[in-house]
Amino acid sequence: MNKKFGASPIRSREDKGYYMDHPCDDVFNCAVCGFEIHPEGAGSDHRNHCPKCLSSIHLDNTPGDRASTCHGIMDPIAVWVRDNGEWALIHRCRSCGALSSNRIAADDNPAKLMSVATKAAKNPPFPVDRLADMCKALGYDPDEVE
Ligand SMILES: [Zn+2]
Ligand SMILES: [Zn+2]
Repeated sequence: MNKKFGASPIRSREDKGYYMDHPCDDVFNCAVCGFEIHPEGAGSDHRNHCPKCLSSIHLDNTPGDRASTCHGIMDPIAVWVRDNGEWALIHRCRSCGALSSNRIAADDNPAKLMSVATKAAKNPPFPVDRLADMCKALGYDPDEVE
């Protein structure tokens, strides 16, 4: 008899892929700032980063699969805006350099989100007050941007 067909359809948490269709309901402490993280209040099924410091842990290869063996700390390095206006965080793993995009949650720390979002603008690689002059010198139209 083929055991495959006798297997229980109920999946356990240990099963690879469990979190792809089950919300995570564990309470745990953030590995970076120690904040106690509760799954409720996130406004989405997968709370994949700390709402206080926005850090994450490298657990997934694809969102929710828990298939990564890296388990490095993932720093929030940037915010990008989707076509519908929704913000998403880019996380980068300290250990392996992997990048991932994650939806922000309803209770994410707004001050920290703004800090991440404006970090690049606060540290420009060129003098912003001379932007128009620089564009002209390089042959670009400074008004020709979205
Ligand atoms: Zn944290
Ligand atoms: Zn990693």
